[in-house]
Amino acid sequence: MLLGGLEAGGTKMVCAIGKEDGTLIDRVSVPTGTPKETIPELIKYFKEKKVQALGIGCFGPLDLNRSSKSYGSITNTPKEGWAGINITEQMKEALDIPVGIDTDVNAAVLGEVVYGAAKGCSSALYMTVGTGVGVGVYINGGLVHGLVHPEAGHMMICRDQADTFQGCCPFHADCVEGLASGKALEKRYGRKAQELSDRADVWELESSYLAQAVANYILVYSPEKVILWGGVMHQKALLPMVREKVKKLLNGYVSHPLLTERIDEYIVYPLLGENPGILGAIYLGMEEMKRGTC
Ligand code: ADP
Ligand code: ZN
Repeated sequence: MLLGGLEAGGTKMVCAIGKEDGTLIDRVSVPTGTPKETIPELIKYFKEKKVQALGIGCFGPLDLNRSSKSYGSITNTPKEGWAGINITEQMKEALDIPVGIDTDVNAAVLGEVVYGAAKGCSSALYMTVGTGVGVGVYINGGLVHGLVHPEAGHMMICRDQADTFQGCCPFHADCVEGLASGKALEKRYGRKAQELSDRADVWELESSYLAQAVANYILVYSPEKVILWGGVMHQKALLPMVREKVKKLLNGYVSHPLLTERIDEYIVYPLLGENPGILGAIYLGMEEMKRGTC
């Protein structure tokens, strides 16, 4: 069976074809223009490949309430032209196949749960620290939705007393994205994060902010695996520092050997390299097919 996956991002759209077992057959990327320019290109690609179902991991926020009229649409994004666009419906109408959708980060956690580092887990969390910060949450065998969907990249954290940077989130003074995203690093230090490798103070502060968020996620969701990725995590020193600080913050209270003795197996990089989102999207399409909604 040929399945389509679409990773819809603000700068690029990654389209891929894969199989149930997670094998990828084809993968292309097109720049994100206006919906009028871009959606026909996506339709053309998936039509030509004759996929039987499509899954979309999409930038948000999204309407994921199945009983809502605008289910499957992008809601109030600042990305020009995309607010209110029902990408799910448009793809479904044009391709006449089941189309599943979830947030990009929920697709990524799903990919890792089905095929990657969290295989076999019934609860897992995926945090990407890139230009922004996003968090996908999978709990008790399902992706988490609620009033809308979790926005844990904006979790409020305690600012370091010596940190005078005002933050870069337009909504919150002291959230993870505002204080610890790649954008925040660039604004605080006046240089791109990848050019700050030799600044020990930068990674000390950065790891303390990320660790606060991760410790809070552990306290709230109790995931069986925490996966950290995104451009900023390419900074090799960061992951071990986050692990140590999470351990310190939790201070033995959450009593499990994975936290107290084997944290290296607990807070990890993804296993699927650059593909967790696209493989998760493919799986979303497969799940939608099983629901029999088309
Ligand atoms: P996006 O979040 O835009 O999808 P990425 O996940 O690649 O893209 O993240 C981009 C961010 O990661 C930028 O802010 C960039 O400065 C930062 N970054 C990229 N490489 C590194 C690195 N080696 N060390 C630290 N930060 C990095
Ligand atoms: Zn925020």
